[in-house]
Formats: sequence, structure tokens, C-alpha cells
Amino acid sequence: MKSKSTCPKCGSARIIQQVHVMDRSDSGTGSLSLRRGTRALGGWLKLPRSFPVDAWTCGACGYTELYVREPAQLLAADEEGIRSPAATAGAIGQPGPQAGDQARTSIVIALAAAMVLALGLLALVAMFLTR
Ligand SMILES: [Zn+2]
Repeated sequence: MKSKSTCPKCGSARIIQQVHVMDRSDSGTGSLSLRRGTRALGGWLKLPRSFPVDAWTCGACGYTELYVREPAQLLAADEEGIRSPAATAGAIGQPGPQAGDQARTSIVIALAAAMVLALGLLALVAMFLTR
């Protein structure tokens, strides 16, 4: 529908272009987006790359199609992932571990290690103080 000026379902020419599609997640609201590949944040932390989609909606029948805003960048991220499969969340059509989940797991493990270390130090200090 993006390149056409008429609705593929009813033939109407009343197309509402580039409608913002909202999405809700644990971290709030944002644009509905596709995810592919990762981008590095600092040395070891990698975040998933997001590609927002917009809707083209027929003003007569309501038929709606979704289009990614930057298809060339999404394609580049996908091809980058094919060259280095470990950097992405799986190939097209195959569900894989989410890169965001991996980053979150790394943070949780680091926090748990820091807490264990702090508790150990606290126990040592308590042992010396009670003698
Ligand atoms: Zn229509």
C-alpha cells in the first residue's frame, strides 16, 4: 500500500499514510518495532537494535498494513547477523534467545556476584569486630 494510492481490499484512494503505531513494554510505551541484530553499548553490553514500523490505513474500510521505516538499515542488520550469527537473535523465521535477555542476564549475574562479595566482606568485618 505504501507505493500505491489505493486500498488493495476495497479500492478506495483515501489512504492515511505513516500512522504511528504504539507499543507497550515493561519500560513504558514507544513505537511498535522490529528487532534484528545488536548494537554495542560500552565494551561488553550489547542491546538489541530496533526498527520502528508505521501503518498505512485505508480511510474507507480500515484495512491496515505495516511498513518498517528504515528497511535498508534492517536489511543491513540482518546481513550483518548472517556474517556473524552469534551477534543476532537467530536467523529469519527461527526464534532464538533475545539479545536483551542476554544483556539482562549478564547484569543480574554481575549484581549477584557483587552482592555475594559485599556479604563476604561484611562477614569478615563482623568476625573481626566481635573478637
Ligand atoms: Zn479499503
